[in-house]
Amino acid sequence: MAIISEKKNKSVRIYGSAQTRFALINVIITLLVLMFLNVYTAETSHMLFYQSKETAMIEKCQLAASEISELEIINTATVSDTIARMGSLRVTRLIVTDQAGRSIYDSLTLNSTVGKYVLLPEIVQALRVNDVFRWEYSNGTMRSFVATPILNYGTLSGCVYMMEYDISQGVLMYSLLRNILTITLVLEIVVIIFSAIFAIAFSKRMRRILASMRIIREGDYSHKVKMGGSDELTVLGDEFNDLTDRLMISENKRRQFVSDASHELKTPLASIKLLSDSILQNDMDMETVREFVSDIGNEADRLNRMSQKLLSLSRIESQEDGDCEIVNIAPTVQRVLRMLSTIAEENGISIIPRLEQDSPILILEDDLYQIIFNLVENGIKYNVPGGSLSILLSREEDNAVIKVADTGVGIPDDAIGHIFERFYRVDKARSRKSGGSGLGLAIVRTIIQRNRGDISVKTQLGKGTTFTVSFPIFDTEEDEI
Ligand code: ATP
Ligand code: MG
Repeated sequence: MAIISEKKNKSVRIYGSAQTRFALINVIITLLVLMFLNVYTAETSHMLFYQSKETAMIEKCQLAASEISELEIINTATVSDTIARMGSLRVTRLIVTDQAGRSIYDSLTLNSTVGKYVLLPEIVQALRVNDVFRWEYSNGTMRSFVATPILNYGTLSGCVYMMEYDISQGVLMYSLLRNILTITLVLEIVVIIFSAIFAIAFSKRMRRILASMRIIREGDYSHKVKMGGSDELTVLGDEFNDLTDRLMISENKRRQFVSDASHELKTPLASIKLLSDSILQNDMDMETVREFVSDIGNEADRLNRMSQKLLSLSRIESQEDGDCEIVNIAPTVQRVLRMLSTIAEENGISIIPRLEQDSPILILEDDLYQIIFNLVENGIKYNVPGGSLSILLSREEDNAVIKVADTGVGIPDDAIGHIFERFYRVDKARSRKSGGSGLGLAIVRTIIQRNRGDISVKTQLGKGTTFTVSFPIFDTEEDEI
C-alpha cells in the first residue's frame, strides 16, 4: 500500500504505508510466538512420553531380572519357565544373556539368538552394571530398547534385554504434533486476515484525514473531518477540527485587520490628497493655503501615530514569553504624568495621583508605560472641561492594582464589549478629531494578557469611567525570573 503525494512543483514522493508495516510486524510477531509455543509444546510432550516410557520399561525389565536372579541355575530351561510364569510382559522381544553376553533365552523362536553372543550396545552397557534405556521414532513407530543387569547378591550373572515396537504411541505422538501444527497454521491465517482487515480500515481512516488536510491546505477552513469510532484517530480528527477552527478564526481576524487597517489609512490619505489638490487647483490666498497645509500636517501626524501604534502592537504580539524585567509601577506612572500634564492642563483636567502603595511586577517597562499612558490619555481625551482624573496605586492580596478613574463622558453599555477591539471608537468623529485611531486599548489588553494581568472597566454614561488593571506582585523571596 503506498500513498503518492503530488506537490505543485510536480515532484512526486512515495510514502510507505505505516499500517501495512504495522500489520506485517503484527503477523511476524504472532508467527514467532506461535512457532515458539509449537516447539515448546512438542518438546514438552516428547519429554513426558519419554519419561513415562523409560520408567515403565525399566521397571518391567528389572522385575524380570530380579525373578531370574533368584534362580539357582540360570539356563534356557529355567529362564523360559520363569518368563512363562511371569505371564505376558507385552514386549516385542526379550533376550536374556549370561555375564559374557551369550544369549540364554530369546522370545523369538524364528532367528533365535540362543547360544550366540548378542553384543548389542544396550546389552554391553547392562553387562557393565547399568540400566539402559533408548528410544527411536521413525515412520510412525516408536521403538524402545531397555537392558538391566541380573545381579545375584552383587555378582553379575547376566542381563535382561527388552525391545518394544509401539505403533499406537507413535500415532498419538504424530497426531499431537500434526494438531499443534494445524492449530498454528489456522491461528496464523486468522491473524493475517484480521491484520489485513485492520490495516485496510486504518488506512481508510488515515486517508480521510489526509484528504481533509489537503482540502484545508487549499484554503477551505470550514471543512471538517468526520471520524467515527472512539479511538486515537477520532481524537486526532477532533484535534484537527479544533485546529482548523482556530486557523479559520485567526485567518478571519487577519483579513479583518488588513481591511480595517487599510480603511483607516485610506481616510487620512484621502484628506491629504483632497487638500493638496485644492491647493494646486484653486487660486487661494496665502492664509487659506497655510490652513490647508496645516491640515495636511495634522493628517500626516495622525498617519504617523497610527503606524507607530500598529508597529508597537505587532512588536507586542511577537514578543517572546520570557521578555520581562522587575519594574516598580510608581516611577512609570510619574513618567506618564510628566508627559501628559501639559495636555491635561490645556484641556482643563486636573490630575490627582494617589500612589499609596507601590509594588514590583514582572513586565517590560516600555509595556507598562504603554498601558498607563493609553489609559491616562483616554481619561484626558474623553473627559469634560473642568473634569478630573485620579490614578490610584494599591495592593489587593498578591496583586498590584492600578485604578485610572475619570469624570468624563462614560461609555455606552453596548460599546463596552468592543472598546478593546482594534480600530473601535465609540464616537468616531470625536475620536478622530482628537487624533484617536482606536488602537490604544487593543494594545493595553494585548500587553496585559501577555503578562498574566487583568483589566476591567466600570462606567456610567455622562459621569465617568474607571479602568482597573492588576498584575501579580513579584515576590523576590518566592519567585525567580
Ligand atoms: P488611540 O488610543 O489609538 O489614539 P482611541 O483613544 O480612540 O485611539 P482606544 O484608546 O482604543 O482608542 O479607545 C477605544 C474607544 O473607547 C475610544 O475611541 C473611546 O470611544 C472609548 N474610550 C476609551 N477610554 C475611554 C474613557 N476613559 N472614557 C470614555 N470613553 C473611552
Ligand atoms: Mg486611546
